[in-house]
Amino acid sequence: MKKARPRRTAAGSGLAPYAARAESGPGRLHAEPSHGWRSEFQRDRDRVIHSGGFRRLVYKTQVFINHEGDLYRTRLTHSLEVAQIARTVARALRLNEDLSEAIALAHDLGHPPFGHAGEAALNECMQPWGGFEHNLQSLRVVDELEDRYLGFAGLNLCFETREGILKHCSRRNARRLGAVGERFLLRQPPGLEAQVVNLADEIAYNNHDVDDGLRSGLLAEEALHAVPLFRRHHVPLLEANPEASRRALIHETIRGMINEVVSDMVATTNANIAASQPASIGDVRALGHPLVALSPATRAAHLALKRFLHRHLYRHERVLNVTSRAQNMLKALFACYMHSPEAMPAEHATRALLQEAERGEAGRALAVADYVAGMTDRYAFSEYRRLVDANAEFQQQ
Ligand code: MG
Repeated sequence: MKKARPRRTAAGSGLAPYAARAESGPGRLHAEPSHGWRSEFQRDRDRVIHSGGFRRLVYKTQVFINHEGDLYRTRLTHSLEVAQIARTVARALRLNEDLSEAIALAHDLGHPPFGHAGEAALNECMQPWGGFEHNLQSLRVVDELEDRYLGFAGLNLCFETREGILKHCSRRNARRLGAVGERFLLRQPPGLEAQVVNLADEIAYNNHDVDDGLRSGLLAEEALHAVPLFRRHHVPLLEANPEASRRALIHETIRGMINEVVSDMVATTNANIAASQPASIGDVRALGHPLVALSPATRAAHLALKRFLHRHLYRHERVLNVTSRAQNMLKALFACYMHSPEAMPAEHATRALLQEAERGEAGRALAVADYVAGMTDRYAFSEYRRLVDANAEFQQQ
């Protein structure tokens, strides 16, 4: 009889059997020697934090244009809040915390300036050449665009990290992405760490957008009382603490909402795991549906808040006004660089020429989209003033 080997716990001692383990995964695109004392997913997280794309997130819009005020969330603080929730949940579920942190910190690296408005504008510009999608762009950033290593382009992250970054993908794009695209063709979910980040992302923005929306004055507390999740935390606090500061009450409310939804996420996911008993990350993927979830009641409460924010914040006249000006700005910049690639810095202009020689106009467009997507809000604005309208103003009205 074969002698049973003790179960390897190494970097992930205490990990559940269905957690991701770098040592039994597909690894990196370019083989690298392992590090003496850091796990592979820790290295991925560190590579993301040291990347240029990560630093630029601080000047990219989440919902509020970056220069509207220093207290609003940016892509960077959003990513940190996602990572914090994801790590908490990963630890509670005995998943790989380092992996969930790496995915969370990288998940918005491909986001263009000016939030979803910027993404929609770039997608419109790129329609003749397959469109633009921020998830796919985040993968492009870590796979190809970061220029930091002598031996390879990109950050050469582990398969599981790349799988988590690619949250959505069309079947057409999935076919050309190789192994990391396969799950979209097979209709399989990613590992649990990536599933945790997906939901942590939604929980983070739902809650911090309530905070930013109230701070900006675009949302009113009374109006938010129409949302059961907000009302059931805010009203009792208000009644019990009539003298308390408005800011502390809002913070305590949001704290309560996050705790309620995240606690439900852990309990519901634990129950789902117990019911399907996956013995490995392969089992998790083969199930065909996600295990990380909210209970039906909490899901409904979470979605009601999301719908409220869509109607009253994201589609608020003042937000839409800024949005449409930001979109016109990005479209004008895109047209400018398409017409005169030499208006981009030499490295990007050269890339446009080389890619055009290989792939025609699509190659040039891709170089322009990569360049525009990498911009911060304020850099896009200064380029707009340099190339299109020297007198442009971009203030909240
Ligand atoms: Mg996000």
